[in-house]
Amino acid sequence: MQNIDQLYKTLFHQPQKIVITTHQKPDGDAMGSSLGLYHFLKQFNHTIHIISPTNWANFLNWMPGIDKVIDFELQKEKCKKIVAEAELIFCLDFNVLHRTKNFATVIEHASCTKALIDHHEMPQVDAFTYGVSNTAKSSTSEMVYDFIAHSGYDSKINLDIAACLYTGVMTDTGSFRFPSTTAGVHKMVAHFLELGLQQTIIHENIYDNFLENRLRFIGFVLNNRMEVMYEYNTAIMYVYKADLLRYDIKTGDTEGLVNYLLTIQGIKFAAIIVDRDEERKWSFRSKGNFDVNSFARKHFEGGGHFNASGGRSDETVNDSIKTFKSILPQYELQLQ
Ligand code: 5GP
Ligand code: MN
Repeated sequence: MQNIDQLYKTLFHQPQKIVITTHQKPDGDAMGSSLGLYHFLKQFNHTIHIISPTNWANFLNWMPGIDKVIDFELQKEKCKKIVAEAELIFCLDFNVLHRTKNFATVIEHASCTKALIDHHEMPQVDAFTYGVSNTAKSSTSEMVYDFIAHSGYDSKINLDIAACLYTGVMTDTGSFRFPSTTAGVHKMVAHFLELGLQQTIIHENIYDNFLENRLRFIGFVLNNRMEVMYEYNTAIMYVYKADLLRYDIKTGDTEGLVNYLLTIQGIKFAAIIVDRDEERKWSFRSKGNFDVNSFARKHFEGGGHFNASGGRSDETVNDSIKTFKSILPQYELQLQ
């Protein structure tokens, strides 16, 4: 993987057929970085398609340009044709191709140039021609901002780009509270505010945009589906398929739930397992020096960041919880 700056030589001088894609079930940073890059690149007369491997949460649907995003699962043949004709694919906010689910083989077999912009641990560098991977960065949205700024075209940053990138950095930093929120992040945000970005509206669009059922669901889960293991400073939540059906829970509704566990005094490690369509999906969060990227990688076929990761299991929810509990004693010392 060569440095992404190599792309500057061609990117601004001749129109190209470009695809922008991101990980399955895109979150605020995945969608924000993709749309931010889209609003930048379209100013150079490129033909650009944005492809999401799957559907996404409704709370992202206010984002400028979201109507242009194609869901691969709904339009597979169209997406394959677009990729076959593309000259360049940007892959944003994921480290390994299988994070794009069924779209992965399409990207893998594409003959065009592939570029990665990402901040997850251990990127699959062989899969990309050009790229930048920096786990110290708060978000892929911040990296897209850097990519634009270094290009010398930062005067092209407009309010649409600002809104999309702000969304990504806000969601990936827990609203600017995680240690990755550097002075550089705040300088970027200052730039957005100077452009006239109305950041309060973005917070409301993302965090105050749910239906009553989600709140009742959270109440139910907190009451009935939570277990605290004080001896390991660990807390877990589990959600059965019947719970999802009972409360009519949609993509995105379970996002952020795991963070409630970290609000309990002394808890360092939090995990939630959700019985999704075809697999059991784990989310892991930690505080301080407990490495959930390694934990997810080693035990649940996953990965991510040091303090936030995800994984999966073929077992039932209850069996997977048993597996989780059987692993915990190995980490007793680290969790003290
Ligand atoms: P979440 O729990 O919010 O789904 O994911 C937390 C972080 O871990 C995100 O940065 C996400 O991209 C990453 N992540 C989630 N699931 C997986 C997985 O199965 N594999 C890898 N490599 N990363 C994941
Ligand atoms: Mn991200």
